Amino acid sequence: MEKIRNYINGDLVEPENGLYFDNYNPSRGSVYSLIPDSGKADVQKATIAASKAFAEWSNTSRSDRSEVLLKIADLIDANHGRLAEAESMDNGKPLKLASRVDIPRASSNFRFFATAILHESTEAHQSDDQAINMTLRSPLGVVGCISPWNLPLYLFTWKIAPALAAGNTVVAKPSEITPMTAFLLSELCIEAGLPVGVLNIVHGKGASAGQAISEHPDIKAISFTGGTETGKRIAATAAPMFKKLSLELGGKNPNIIFADCDFEDALKTSVHSSFANQGQICLCGSRIFVERSMYEKFRAAFVDKVNKLKVGDPFDAGSNLGAVVSKEHMEKVLGYIELAKKEGGKLLTGGERIVLEGELSGGYYIAPTVFEGLSFDCQTNQQEIFGPVVTLAPFDAEEEVIKMANSTEYGLSATVWTTNLKRANRVSNQLESGIIWVNCWLFRDLRTPFGGIKKSGVGREGGWDVLEFFSEKKNVCMKL
Ligand code: NAD
Repeated sequence: MEKIRNYINGDLVEPENGLYFDNYNPSRGSVYSLIPDSGKADVQKATIAASKAFAEWSNTSRSDRSEVLLKIADLIDANHGRLAEAESMDNGKPLKLASRVDIPRASSNFRFFATAILHESTEAHQSDDQAINMTLRSPLGVVGCISPWNLPLYLFTWKIAPALAAGNTVVAKPSEITPMTAFLLSELCIEAGLPVGVLNIVHGKGASAGQAISEHPDIKAISFTGGTETGKRIAATAAPMFKKLSLELGGKNPNIIFADCDFEDALKTSVHSSFANQGQICLCGSRIFVERSMYEKFRAAFVDKVNKLKVGDPFDAGSNLGAVVSKEHMEKVLGYIELAKKEGGKLLTGGERIVLEGELSGGYYIAPTVFEGLSFDCQTNQQEIFGPVVTLAPFDAEEEVIKMANSTEYGLSATVWTTNLKRANRVSNQLESGIIWVNCWLFRDLRTPFGGIKKSGVGREGGWDVLEFFSEKKNVCMKL
């Protein structure tokens, strides 16, 4: 069985303790490869390699750094098919989604930051005729990047690319649930000629390998994407060490649909924003609020469309939904479906595990599920489910829906559907979310600040924000 290896100091290596654990293919529920069970010793080796590489990498010219990162982007494109298949098999997502979104975005991440650094500038402040203040920016040193399983290579590279572009060296850990494309990336980095030690990828569990990264004294910053509870733990470890922290955490995003919207567009996009990637995108809208005058029409059309979604083999081009990522996650989502019923929710469609035939019979499939009749403040509407489950609820007034939308502990994203621009502005300004989409969803421009408020996180990724996160500013004041 294939063994994934760590990428440390330019080599693909076994974990120090020689231990591995199982990697599952969620579409079949079977083990298909082995993951290094790395721990402190591997993180230590990786950090030493990264520390050694830092002096040279941080002094490499921007154009040389850019060149090697662009080579990695080209190699991702050249291996597009292989990477998309690996992502789909590891995660359970439809192959067509991995092909159209995950893998192209991974190369875009490298290309975007490889070229951004060629256009960066810093500020100078002239203090009358007495002094000039120059802002200098330098990389931090060795930084830690820890990513989740829902968009594996997409989010892994979203951290690594800016960290490297800014001149840092990296110790990174992908999710232990979906490690395969990060492993394939390490092979591509070797092929691209990335200098040894500049990027180190340590595979393993959060409590061991992840924890070792967040508590290593020589790792200057942690960029983390994952659950809010894990973010809390990482902050508790890293904050007293005065590490820089970027935390991209959970969400419970509202999707607000006013009666004056473009109905067909709102309907089609809402089905997509509810169930894309089996509802396992931190930006999926899981609470759909519909203005009462249109509620019944929307509900009927929505349920009808959801009923037409095909749950099936991720490798089948006709499948709209594949498998959820793991058995544990499937059980968690099914548990939330039971909770919604207990809380008085009326099941409009779905609500159960789907067992496919043949080799797929052990896979973790859940029917896209829609509830109505739940209060906005019940647990189902307050806690992150992170699966193919949404609730529908009518509203009468703008103030009422804003109150309901803002009622959770989270504040990652929100979607607003209306053709009234004044209303769009008014509502967007009052929503407590880091990202608001008006009449669209998941339209991403990599230059924009990306992140959440409240328990959805601290800090912003994307554009100049993330390059700033991965650097230290210094003011030099020179007397004239
Ligand atoms: P998770 O928190 O369980 O794991 C994320 C990563 O953290 C994994 O690599 C894991 O091994 C590691 N980890 C776990 N414990 C750790 C510890 N003590 N120290 C250091 N690292 C540790 O999250 P998940 O289940 O992989 O991902 C799903 C969550 O991610 C959801 O809550 C989702 O909303 C969130 N998410 C947020 C965004 C965003 O941009 N805000 C994007 C994607 C996913």
